[in-house]
Amino acid sequence: MSPALPFLPFSKPSIDEATIAAVGEVLRSGWITSGPKVQAFEAQLSEYFGGRPVRTFNSGTCTMEIALRVAGIGPGDEVITTSISWVATANVIIEVGATPVFADIDPVTRNIDLDKVEAAITPRTKAIIPVFLSGLPVDMDRLYAIAKKHNLRVVEDAAQAFGSSWNGKRIGSFGDFVSFSFQANKNLTTGEGGCLVLNNADEARLAERYRLQGVSRSGVDGIDVDVLGGKYNMTDITAAIGLGQFAHIEAVTAHRRALARHYFARFGDQFEAQTGAQLPLADFDNSNWHLFQIILPDKGPGTRAEFMRRMAEEFNVGTGFHYAPIHLFTLYRERGFTEGMFPVSEKIGRLTVTLPMFYAMTTADVERAVAAVKAILTK
Ligand SMILES: *Cc1c(COP(=O)(O)O)cnc(C)c1O
Repeated sequence: MSPALPFLPFSKPSIDEATIAAVGEVLRSGWITSGPKVQAFEAQLSEYFGGRPVRTFNSGTCTMEIALRVAGIGPGDEVITTSISWVATANVIIEVGATPVFADIDPVTRNIDLDKVEAAITPRTKAIIPVFLSGLPVDMDRLYAIAKKHNLRVVEDAAQAFGSSWNGKRIGSFGDFVSFSFQANKNLTTGEGGCLVLNNADEARLAERYRLQGVSRSGVDGIDVDVLGGKYNMTDITAAIGLGQFAHIEAVTAHRRALARHYFARFGDQFEAQTGAQLPLADFDNSNWHLFQIILPDKGPGTRAEFMRRMAEEFNVGTGFHYAPIHLFTLYRERGFTEGMFPVSEKIGRLTVTLPMFYAMTTADVERAVAAVKAILTK
């Protein structure tokens, strides 16, 4: 018997030795909280996003929450978002006291359906949080046309979209608020962290106050507190990881796009017809291919659990799912959401599965994953 191939996870961070050394330097420097590394990271990010102000935080979740606070969104306001995202996307709406409103997704892009967004707008709607699932942006021209027409703020949940673009323009370099996550699985990671792209210096100053206990540099003692802030600052330890990761971002995006192309080539033209499964949208210009997700053919309850179990047990290949529909979690059912409200989200949320995709992955790994999927779905 040949030895089993090593476990192939669905995601894995790549941290180079230079980054590990840079973290060691910070630890030895005597300054380990927010300092020069955070400033340098924010400056590099700002340049990358065409000079727009950028502030870093200790998660992509608080980054979105602070964007909503800076926009002045709170009790009585409605915010429209998608049910197919990490629950953080909707939780932050509740966190600021506003009301989450879901719009169903488009079955092809698996992103929020902008027709359904328009239909969900009421006089209380104040903002839209679109999610760029797997790194694929929504139609940004249409999104901002809707926002302009109805006078709405936009908080782009670009947690998965660092390095993505829209018709040649980098995501983050235009638009309203743009929120990125640097969580462990993301294309650019700091372990945990995030950054927010804002519109102007006033918004950036307000975001800084929400980031650190509401403290501003004014008042009789040179310090005052005028808003209720939290403790959301990034440290120089994590910023050093971010700087090291940022140096490779173009190579990371290019490699992921090449892996995605290889997935399509290996699945081949007949895969969907032969299995009833559905591949993702074949976009190689806009998406950064944060995730490679297929929709399984529906074999009833337990379809995905059984598929994931067989991938792991028979082929030693890790898979994940992104995501279970948010509106069917208990917290949201308690707020009145029920099964049947968003049928496309419910179907995709039950049948989507994430295949391996990460920077250190090889084309041979892709071939292994595809062979495993085909073996399970064609037998
Ligand atoms: C990762 C992620 C978040 C949350 O980011 P954290 O850094 O984990 O707080 C939010 N939305 C989406 C779509 C994500 O993928």
